[in-house]
Amino acid sequence: MRELFTIFGNPVNHSKSPLMHNLAFRGLNYSGCYGRYRLEDGSKLRDKFFELNLTGANITVPHKEMAFEICDELDEFAKRVGAVNTIVRRGDKLYGYNSDALGFLKAIEEFKDIKRVLFLGAGGTAKATSIILKDAGYEVTILNRSAKRLEQYPNFKTYTFDNFKIDKEYDLIVNMTSAGLKDDSLPSPIDILESLISSAKASIDVIYGKETPFLKFAKEHNIPTKDGSDMLLYQGIIAFEKFTNNQFTFKQIERYMKKAFYI
Ligand code: NDP
Repeated sequence: MRELFTIFGNPVNHSKSPLMHNLAFRGLNYSGCYGRYRLEDGSKLRDKFFELNLTGANITVPHKEMAFEICDELDEFAKRVGAVNTIVRRGDKLYGYNSDALGFLKAIEEFKDIKRVLFLGAGGTAKATSIILKDAGYEVTILNRSAKRLEQYPNFKTYTFDNFKIDKEYDLIVNMTSAGLKDDSLPSPIDILESLISSAKASIDVIYGKETPFLKFAKEHNIPTKDGSDMLLYQGIIAFEKFTNNQFTFKQIERYMKKAFYI
């Protein structure tokens, strides 16, 4: 029988995940089908999962924290970040993982000589990613528009726009905010970006599929850039590995899943 998967979120109509996973199912001859489900009330997530008779699901904004709450078992990294974006059903139990941050870690591999990383933004994606980068030996500093979310970063150097001081050079500057997603805003005041960009070796925007004002700014300063497409692809591959119980290698899945970015 065909196994069913979906992405839960609100909104989900823009999501590339159904295309990515269905291309991989088809290419690898795996009997799976992946849909999308707009879920308004996150407290219904567990019931919906079982009602739809799913084998696995991805979870996106705004339900990643709820996904963390409703799993029976969590992997160590998901436990530490408090957010889940991948759920797999085994028997009657739901197992939760976070593949976003691993996807980001893999996406920056191609940039060499990176040690000091500055995150613009302190939301859920930044939180998970900062932890994995620190584990991997990067030095991460967080700069956010407002102070509240910075309370979630007790083990990091943090600043707001108002108290930011450049006391070192940053190799990689990352837009971890949603600035530029639906508007034309930069993730920080331009004078801050101008003071950072000349010493940066690379920059990444986690937003994908468009040239954001941040990426445009970095390109104008001749800094190597990439958008969030690789992060999205890699988190999808890692989720697919879990969905299919590691039957396929990363490379095998990538071969088919990456087609979603050019059709
Ligand atoms: P959250 O809502 O948790 O956090 C948003 C963050 O952005 C906050 O730090 C907020 O600051 C800041 N922010 C929002 N608007 C602005 C602005 N105009 N100027 C400056 N700062 C701003 O978001 P997430 O962490 O869930 O997502 C962040 C981004 O990551 C989104 O664009 C999302 O699409 C992308 N993403 C990409 C993935 C990929 O695979 N490529 C995977 C997951 C997410 P404040 O605290 O002051 O409100």
